[in-house]
Amino acid sequence: MDQMIGSVVILGGGTAGWLSACRVAAARPDLDVTLIEAPDIPTIGVGEGTWPTMRATLAAIGIDEAEFLTACDGSFKQGSRFDGWVDGGADDSYLHPFTPPPAMPAGDLIAAWRDAGDGADFAHAMTPQAAVCARNLAPRQRTMPAYQGALNYAYHLDAGKFAALLRRHAVQRLGVRHIADQVIEVCAGEAGDVAALVTRDLGAVAGDFFIDCSGHAAMLIGGHCGVGWIDRSDVLINDRALAAQVPTAPVAPIASQTVATAHRAGWVWDIALPSRRGIGCVYASRFMGDDAAEAELRAYIARNVPGAPEVPVRRLAFPTGHRARFWRGNCVAIGLSAGFIEPLEASAIVMIELSLDALIDNFPARRAVLPVLAERFDALFRYRWDRIVEFLKLHYLLSRRDEPYWRTQRDPAHVPERLAGLLALWRDQAPSRWDFPQIDEIFSAESHQYILYGMGYPVPGRLVASDRARAAIAENMRRARALAAALPANRDYLDALLADRGAANVQMEGF
Ligand SMILES: Cc1cc2nc3c(=O)[nH]c(=O)nc-3n(C[C@H](O)[C@H](O)[C@H](O)COP(=O)(O)OP(=O)(O)OC[C@H]3O[C@@H](n4cnc5c(N)ncnc54)[C@H](O)[C@@H]3O)c2cc1C
Repeated sequence: MDQMIGSVVILGGGTAGWLSACRVAAARPDLDVTLIEAPDIPTIGVGEGTWPTMRATLAAIGIDEAEFLTACDGSFKQGSRFDGWVDGGADDSYLHPFTPPPAMPAGDLIAAWRDAGDGADFAHAMTPQAAVCARNLAPRQRTMPAYQGALNYAYHLDAGKFAALLRRHAVQRLGVRHIADQVIEVCAGEAGDVAALVTRDLGAVAGDFFIDCSGHAAMLIGGHCGVGWIDRSDVLINDRALAAQVPTAPVAPIASQTVATAHRAGWVWDIALPSRRGIGCVYASRFMGDDAAEAELRAYIARNVPGAPEVPVRRLAFPTGHRARFWRGNCVAIGLSAGFIEPLEASAIVMIELSLDALIDNFPARRAVLPVLAERFDALFRYRWDRIVEFLKLHYLLSRRDEPYWRTQRDPAHVPERLAGLLALWRDQAPSRWDFPQIDEIFSAESHQYILYGMGYPVPGRLVASDRARAAIAENMRRARALAAALPANRDYLDALLADRGAANVQMEGF
């Protein structure tokens, strides 16, 4: 049992697999890292919205920001805008930006916003990012150091191109061994551990530690280890998605945020990349058939992308839930094999990153320490899946839309008890770090404030504004004007970047 861990085998070559390969190989060059992916089993191929954590992830892996943006058809994401979620009316729109409100007691700020009476919505009062998003501006200037911005930001990307970039980087620069073959059997080792993965053509690939990134198949954590699945579809009822890629004109503005537009039985996502928009419809099959959803999606495209050509639509079904445990013996599940909760607020790739942070900081040196690390990892990620479920539910719960789907989403019988308790508490006080005490909360107290007050939840009457809070809001408005004058449009930034890199490549060829 005191055997040292020197080799890692990753099963799966989607976003989870290649991010795992890059992070582990970059952090631990002493380990021997192998990734196996089946050429005939496609990756899920969606997942275009990330969290600001992606900047630290890419920097840790050693990928240059400009290279990433050009290779992945990437753009900047500064938050999510929710249209039609409150009552479906013409002005029904609010923003969940990535930049938090000024650092001061939340109650003071929220009361100062309530008392201002100037009609500014919550996000505009709390951060200049709202004005920057409204103008389709980038969060940074090109002269700034890579991965730093005037405002907090993440990216939108082409998932297929992202996996290809990570693969090249892992194999060519980080020394990851890549095996394109299908795993057909798992060899058990001591105490039910995984000893080797048997591939169809190459035979057995042995390892000391295994990362299951096999997607919904969950071949190791579910299949071999037999860890059960906890279904959360009683709380979050969406189970289908349609995905389309709509080419756009090379001059079309590029939005700074994911736009999520509610419809009668779900919502539509809209993600702008330099060359196209990724647009998809999420819905609950109990309330909407596939054909009706496709009609909903096509109508959205016709309304929102002038001159859009007829594009093919991919149909996807997804389970809502997560594993009962994520780490068993010498195997940890990362990505869809660990769980999936619908794509609202793009929580999946950030969970991959958080899993890798936790794994790398606590990478087992010896087999003997596996149980203690597994227990800690399981507790942390059970906490995080629960928080995701609650945060997404909040978006539905605060809606006043009256269609049967929306009424079902608000059914008190399917509201997590902790969330119901917090909503009662937030009648008297604002969401705070006492409600979300972890250092790396996936959704902070500030994120909850943006949803709550963006959707019109009453500000507690007993909150009192301070002069400091009023001054901070005025300062946000001033900074919004300054940033609007200083930051480039997303389109201009990304076009100039592409032109420069094209010129650099031509120079290299001529050299
Ligand atoms: C509609 C929708 C929208 C989404 N939008 C977002 C978003 O905006 N933001 C976000 O963060 N996330 C999003 N996600 C989730 C995101 O797509 C995934 O979390 C992410 O792509 C990771 O997937 P994965 O790598 O775990 O699995 P997959 O992409 O499914 O990859 C599985 C890999 O395992 C391999 N494999 C399977 N079985 C075997 C075998 N027997 N032998 C060898 N290899 C095998 C396959 O070949 C493949 O390489 C979305 C998901 C859906 C369904």
